[in-house]
Amino acid sequence: MAVTSAGRAATTAHRLAQGRVSARVVADVLGLWRSLDPLRLVDPAWMGQVLTALARHRETSAELAASYYRDFRRAEVPAAAAFTPSAGLAGTSSPWRGRAVTSLRVTGTRLVARLILGGWDPARALDKAGPGVAAASSRHVLDAGREYVQTALRADPVARGWLRVTGADPCSFCAMLASRGATGKPVLYRSERSATTSSKTGEEYHDGCHCQAEPVFGPVVLPEASQRFAALWETSTEGLSGKAARNAFRRAYNAARRG
Ligand SMILES: [Zn+2]
Repeated sequence: MAVTSAGRAATTAHRLAQGRVSARVVADVLGLWRSLDPLRLVDPAWMGQVLTALARHRETSAELAASYYRDFRRAEVPAAAAFTPSAGLAGTSSPWRGRAVTSLRVTGTRLVARLILGGWDPARALDKAGPGVAAASSRHVLDAGREYVQTALRADPVARGWLRVTGADPCSFCAMLASRGATGKPVLYRSERSATTSSKTGEEYHDGCHCQAEPVFGPVVLPEASQRFAALWETSTEGLSGKAARNAFRRAYNAARRG
């Protein structure tokens, strides 16, 4: 968590702004999704329209992240020498298009084709897949902002690492990652592990995930939510390790979330 109140306010405002971008992506992509003919799934024009929409929203996400990084840094380390990350960090140069096409096929057209083969009514199959397509699209857009922050961190001489800041209602997986506190400067991985998570930065951002990265410049203070997750991890996983601990945490977290 930011050390200054201005830093904290910047992180919250940034997370909410990226959430609004995500909502616009979901609305746009669902609109395009409904226009797809379920009996003509291999439609290059449709894919092109989605990619164009994603590219536009990615630009917004990266711009928001750039002004966030600048404001946050100014609040947290006002005395540090000015630092301008090289422009266009998360822009068109990154191979996001190929990754997005894969995701859209996995969550969208391939799923619909499989459902129809399994006897589903085509229109219902399209409805069923829609939310997954929207969540994947949102991830590919928010990744632009996250990549900006992570790339800037890596190059920033006074940045020490980063913290995961969760959205309003994170899943147990994200809560677990957030509870672990700060991570050092990210390492860039070359390979992608799956079509439904972003692991480029070595940390997972899955479809529908509203987590953001907050730079760490000074002492590490966990955000309040992450402190709660860490306390729950302590109590729920006592005497356990590895997978058993993760499962115990997930059960405790989901029970608390329902209650
Ligand atoms: Zn998350």
